[in-house]
Amino acid sequence: MLDKQIIPTKEEIRKFIGEKSIENCENSPTSPNKHACFTTIFSKHYQKYIDRIKKNDNYLLMKRICIVLFTFLLFSCNNQRENQAHSFQRMENYNGNFDLSIKDRLLDTPSVIIDFLNQLDNVNNYSSYELNNQEKQIFMDYFELLPSNYISIIAEKVYGIYFVNNFLGGGMTLPIFDNDGNMFMVLFFNPGIMRQNISEWITFRDNSAFTINDSKIFINIEINSQYFALIHTLVHEASHIYDYYNYVTPYTEPFLRSDKTIFPTEFVKDIWINYDEPIQEYNFILRENIYSYDLGERTSKNYAIDIYQALKKTSFSSIYGSKNWAEDFAEGFTWWYLYEYFNINYITNVFEDKNLLILYDPNENELVKARYKIFEAILE
Ligand SMILES: [Zn+2]
Repeated sequence: MLDKQIIPTKEEIRKFIGEKSIENCENSPTSPNKHACFTTIFSKHYQKYIDRIKKNDNYLLMKRICIVLFTFLLFSCNNQRENQAHSFQRMENYNGNFDLSIKDRLLDTPSVIIDFLNQLDNVNNYSSYELNNQEKQIFMDYFELLPSNYISIIAEKVYGIYFVNNFLGGGMTLPIFDNDGNMFMVLFFNPGIMRQNISEWITFRDNSAFTINDSKIFINIEINSQYFALIHTLVHEASHIYDYYNYVTPYTEPFLRSDKTIFPTEFVKDIWINYDEPIQEYNFILRENIYSYDLGERTSKNYAIDIYQALKKTSFSSIYGSKNWAEDFAEGFTWWYLYEYFNINYITNVFEDKNLLILYDPNENELVKARYKIFEAILE
């Protein structure tokens, strides 16, 4: 649990950082991923803070504070910006409407939002993709496959649904705020999830975390389904939305941590120490540095054996789900739901040359299965 007496509050951090640093953060978008700007400014301006913590010989605590500071920075920078970033979180800059049916909330992405997404991921090839009528119908057919309480919460809270060409990732759920500070959601999807089946997409996702040609290691994903990848992405993103409002995890994004936060919830108990730090036994090699979809540097495939070997001994359904407790829930619920209701398996085989060294099936993992009762309760 985060120690509120030692971890600085947002106000304290704001004082410590000063507005100047936040401005600097806005002006230094030179790194290959969205986090680097904040990380750079962090290391530049917070050494004193880190030194102070180091003096206390409490490295773990420092790490926690870094996470809090980092998250605060991310949120503050967004709030401080007068330009696209600010617009990005404001409901009025989206073209959604709660009077529309879900099908009619499949909208063109506003150009200001495309600009921001490009900036956020440091790319320039994002553009709005308009689904044709047939694709809209497929989307709706898949939408109907969601748990009924997920359908209800999306109808109530999701303001607009957007498809973005070349999007790095399968999907993204983003909180937005109206003028009274009420939180709603928008959804972004990669059109690729409606062109590739789930097996092709997850093969791409899980392999994208690793370098391509530096090893004899081969990672093969077996998923026994011809459904489009949309089914996985939809359940995954809908799980985040459910979590934002129902607190399966203490908070879905660190900036939502508040005095009312309850830690631990049943889902994170004895598994997560804080948002992105699992218990030591689950905190396997390179876990924090593994990024899919080229949203960070790739990991050498030579580590894949150690990583998957360690994953088998955790409660996590996938490497993707080991990043933080929000992804843990989204992945855990999704693979359970797909298995339970659609008989979809998710098996990872790690080969060296032609020798199968590791087989990971989360639905055969007792530690994963121990959490099924939490997922079942969500559907009750
Ligand atoms: Zn996610």
